[in-house]
Amino acid sequence: MKERSDSLTLKGLIFAQSRITMNHPIISVLASKQSIIEAGIGGEQRVAEVLQKYRFPFKNNIFHDLSLSSDSNFQIDHLIKTPYYGVVLETKNLAGSLEFRDNPPQLIQRREDGQIKYYESPVVQLERNIELLTAWLSERNIHLPLYGAIVLAYPKQHVEIPPANATLLFPNMIPPFIKSLPQQGTRLDYSSFNRLSSGLLKSHQIYIPKPVCESYQIPLIHIKPGVRCETCGKLGMIKVPRTWHCPFCKVNNHLAHQGTLVEWFLVVKKSITNTECRDFLHVDIHTATRILQNMQLQSKGTFRNRTYFMDFRKLPLK
Ligand SMILES: [Zn+2]
Repeated sequence: MKERSDSLTLKGLIFAQSRITMNHPIISVLASKQSIIEAGIGGEQRVAEVLQKYRFPFKNNIFHDLSLSSDSNFQIDHLIKTPYYGVVLETKNLAGSLEFRDNPPQLIQRREDGQIKYYESPVVQLERNIELLTAWLSERNIHLPLYGAIVLAYPKQHVEIPPANATLLFPNMIPPFIKSLPQQGTRLDYSSFNRLSSGLLKSHQIYIPKPVCESYQIPLIHIKPGVRCETCGKLGMIKVPRTWHCPFCKVNNHLAHQGTLVEWFLVVKKSITNTECRDFLHVDIHTATRILQNMQLQSKGTFRNRTYFMDFRKLPLK
């Protein structure tokens, strides 16, 4: 029903690293953040593959990477919905030996290189997600029993101490676990089941991260401007009549400024002025005005003081 969307946070981190001037110390910080996010995405993909291959003997819908809001915002890695119950899966992708402590709740990771890391307990995250999803459902007068499990998606995980009160699964154990759950009580009828699915999709909100420069206090002078060539990845496409030309790979692309403005909003700032646009794309005032007006951006203020914003929810993101 719903595939996971490309994480905008990840995109921002990748773009930022390629725009920050050489040898800036923040690059290694951004790179390690990137690898944490990629490991998480890798784990969720492994779970998604297992679920995709499996044919359950009952009606079901599967949602990956669902962001909803009830009492507060919450994000569910995987939700499997059947007419009798829903299953919430929280995926962890950590190498080494893991200890799930209950008092206080904590996850301790001992990596092969001897490093020890401490995380919020996934048991607490899972319980909170189930609680918030229950609230979300009852706001809509839907009563569906919810079950949950923590999935260890990384192939080289060793569990030293399992959690006392939560189910731990490896990806291939997910289908039998889901099939083993009791199908009792009233089931959702055909139309309620479908209404719930479209309600979940409609309520899903894309997570829009703070621009990288804001999160990591990187001044604009450390960011290289220029329009990026999507073919060779280099910065510095040149504006020629009706299109952009890449001096490196000689490709023309009349929409190249669009991707570069998305980069601005993910990397530099939430808003852009005509002057900032001119400096970033290396264009004159008239081209900047035309580009900003044609991008279906939201704007605030008039004439000289006008600032533009991007509504990422309207962007056709893959
Ligand atoms: Zn190129």
